[in-house]
Amino acid sequence: MNKKISFFFTIAIIISCVTAVFLIIYNYNLISSINEEESSSQLSILPEDETTIISNLPNDLLVVDKIITWGYYVPSQTRIIDTVIIHSSYDALGTDPYSVDGVIYEYKLYNVSAHYLIDRNGTIFKLVEDKNIAYHAGSGKMPDDRININNFSIGIELLYHENEMPNEIQYQRLVRLIKNLKLKYKINYILGHKDIAPSRKTDPWNFNWQKFNEMLKNK
Ligand SMILES: [Zn+2]
Repeated sequence: MNKKISFFFTIAIIISCVTAVFLIIYNYNLISSINEEESSSQLSILPEDETTIISNLPNDLLVVDKIITWGYYVPSQTRIIDTVIIHSSYDALGTDPYSVDGVIYEYKLYNVSAHYLIDRNGTIFKLVEDKNIAYHAGSGKMPDDRININNFSIGIELLYHENEMPNEIQYQRLVRLIKNLKLKYKINYILGHKDIAPSRKTDPWNFNWQKFNEMLKNK
């Protein structure tokens, strides 16, 4: 009788052990499959999100180097950039007002420059390195009363006739460029040339600041 009890007792223990082991394995598989599901669902979402973010970042901006040799100087110390000045100009001497080489030749005649020039097709040309001080603003005064504006600003020229306004692609490229600059520098002011020199300057002509500011906010 004692033997029988101990036999059944042993069987019961074995069955319990097998069940316990089975349950442990089952739960382990269940947990790891959940983890896999989580990680695989994360994996399937993350790269897509990252790709979207990266493609939305304006740091993949295409800029065509067309560095000039006049109209700026190379400072001995690193300058701090906190302002963007928007200009407009066109080739008034040649037959094509949208001629990039023509307008650059005019800058040369006046020994002036800008860091960037956005042509009528939206191509962004870099004429002067950001670190260099381009002669684009001339004498003027900032809203915070600072002068010598070239020292701390980036100048961007938009190429169009004074009877016109920037076209859609120029607005888009300008916004992209400024967003790109904002990634590199703490930009506190984005102003038109006429805002800092109202008695001398009228550019950027017919510029729609409301449209620009909305694009800068949203895009
Ligand atoms: Zn100007």
